[in-house]
Amino acid sequence: MADSSTPTHPGLRNVQRILAVSSCKGGVGKSTTSVNTALSLARYGLRVGLLDADVYGPSLPTLLRPASPQLFQNEEGLILPLEIHGMKVMSFGWIDPEQQRGPAILRGPMVSQVVSQLATRVEWGDLDYLVIDFPPGTGDIQLTLTQQLPIDAAVIVTTPQQLSFVDVVKGIQMFDTVNVPTVSVVENMSYFQCESCGEKMRIFGEGARKQLIEQFGFTHTMEMPLDPRLSAMSDAGTPMVLESPEDPVSQLYYELAERVHGEINRLQSEEAGIPTLSYNVGQNCELTYPDGRIIEINPFELRLACKCAECVHEFTGEQLVKAEDLDPDVYPEAITPVGRYAASVKWSDGKCASIYPYHYLEEKFSSPDA
Ligand code: ADP
Repeated sequence: MADSSTPTHPGLRNVQRILAVSSCKGGVGKSTTSVNTALSLARYGLRVGLLDADVYGPSLPTLLRPASPQLFQNEEGLILPLEIHGMKVMSFGWIDPEQQRGPAILRGPMVSQVVSQLATRVEWGDLDYLVIDFPPGTGDIQLTLTQQLPIDAAVIVTTPQQLSFVDVVKGIQMFDTVNVPTVSVVENMSYFQCESCGEKMRIFGEGARKQLIEQFGFTHTMEMPLDPRLSAMSDAGTPMVLESPEDPVSQLYYELAERVHGEINRLQSEEAGIPTLSYNVGQNCELTYPDGRIIEINPFELRLACKCAECVHEFTGEQLVKAEDLDPDVYPEAITPVGRYAASVKWSDGKCASIYPYHYLEEKFSSPDA
């Protein structure tokens, strides 16, 4: 999981990534998106689990129909998930079949507790992805869940209604507060494609997608058509990507899965590669990588390696500040990260604020046999 500081929950020990699929309102197609995306990820050979955390209206028992929805526990007391179409699946609807007949009468704190237990007290085993179909909304329940579970990324599902832009922004902000990146916004039922002429009819008008791109520069958005076959297939228990894998609508789900997987990988490798520069008084500076690798740098050498315009000639590259010009006991008074690529150091000699790109420090100070 991305955040190694998160305590490991028993059922999630061997789960590599958790993807939340969320929406501000119910009925926008969150479960349809979750199940088709999860199946698309599985199609790429990834090991996938799907948790239906929508305790208000669990839909997985309708969308997927395992032969025997009976649950068992292992010797640790963890629930064993059901398996269907190569995925491990769990729904509140299978724990209490009564829930399939009507909305659960649960108050907020109970809901987050129930969902959190569903995620952590199920033995998910080795998974590349656990996809969680979140309860709809962006209130306390959802915020608590994002705090309790080590979620790596979110997909927000919306429809092109008037208020949806505000809703989507609310959703992105909710995940932002707990540092969970939103990797895609899916505008579902975005258009209806005319069978004969192929024209896309935008029955509900232009949605938030355009505004998200133009105002926020948020490019990871997707449009899904309003397609009656999607709901017919879901109702029959065979989601689109299983029933018609070659269909253009299925291809859109594969595209979404690819995008999500690519974006999470990119974020994780960036995250994994970012070191931290630190200084312990009286000792060396340390450039520490998340994998534990440390490059030690003598503070004086680091000061001498400053490449600001006062220290190095801008055009000729000539070293302007020589070792003999510097205080031999110079040390960093403050070190601050600059974006994801560099650290700035405020020196005790007060002469310059140096910015050191990490790759420059690595090239200059890592020993060749390290
Ligand atoms: P949510 O999880 O947000 O409550 P669902 O995925 O259960 O929403 O979808 C609500 C209803 O809309 C279901 O009957 C589903 O089959 C249907 N539906 C979802 N997406 C589409 C779509 N793109 N085109 C047509 N029907 C859809």
